Amino acid sequence: MSYTITLALSKGRIFEETLPLLAAAGIVPNESPDSSRKLIIGTNRPDVRLIIVRATDVPTYVQHGAADLGIAGKDVLIEHGGEGLYQPVDLHIAKCRMMVAVPVGFDYAGKVRRGARLRVATKYVQTARLHFAAKGVHVDLIKLYGSMELAPLVGLADAIVDLVSTGGTLKANNLEAVETIQDISSRLVVNQAALKLKHAAIHPIIEAFRAAVGDGAPAA
Ligand code: ATP
Ligand code: MG
Repeated sequence: MSYTITLALSKGRIFEETLPLLAAAGIVPNESPDSSRKLIIGTNRPDVRLIIVRATDVPTYVQHGAADLGIAGKDVLIEHGGEGLYQPVDLHIAKCRMMVAVPVGFDYAGKVRRGARLRVATKYVQTARLHFAAKGVHVDLIKLYGSMELAPLVGLADAIVDLVSTGGTLKANNLEAVETIQDISSRLVVNQAALKLKHAAIHPIIEAFRAAVGDGAPAA
């Protein structure tokens, strides 16, 4: 079977929150990635298939054209750099904030004012580097792959840069957010070459997503 359009998605919240947008574009997956364990999922449309990849891998599949479209968090896109990607629609899903957090009582503002050097643990090194450079704060960045909240509790770092939605995880670990770096939501991303070559198939999908999220601007 030859497919025209491949859309890259991650499991979990992005898949769940994308389902209504797909439905608005007339696309209904044949299976759920949670129950089927398949990595390639067909849809009601013979010309559209979904691939299920790690959230951080979505921009890579789309950049190289292995997927024509994808849905990725702004956090992931900043870290990736967005090269080769067209980002036509903010989908307003998977909303959260990129924040700086420290142990409760740690004098973050005072340290920053005095020009102290801070050790910052994060999965989002690019975001953190840009943020602290713009503020003129000297940092030693420590790259982690998960559970950033632990780092300040065991002396690995003074602060963390992480995504926060309710703040429940911070609170449970006696941490507090001290600075917002950026509001985060997920974006539709499109391979720029595919958009030109398969415009007739891709353009209506972009427009359907745009209409479903109430964004009136026309697509390219
Ligand atoms: P994994 O959990 O498999 O390690 P991940 O953390 O990259 O991978 P998800 O947790 O599914 O994957 O997050 C996917 C995207 O959802 C993130 O890139 C981010 O944009 C957004 N996100 C992450 N945490 C939250 C949150 N607490 N609330 C809302 N959106 C979030
Ligand atoms: Mg996660």
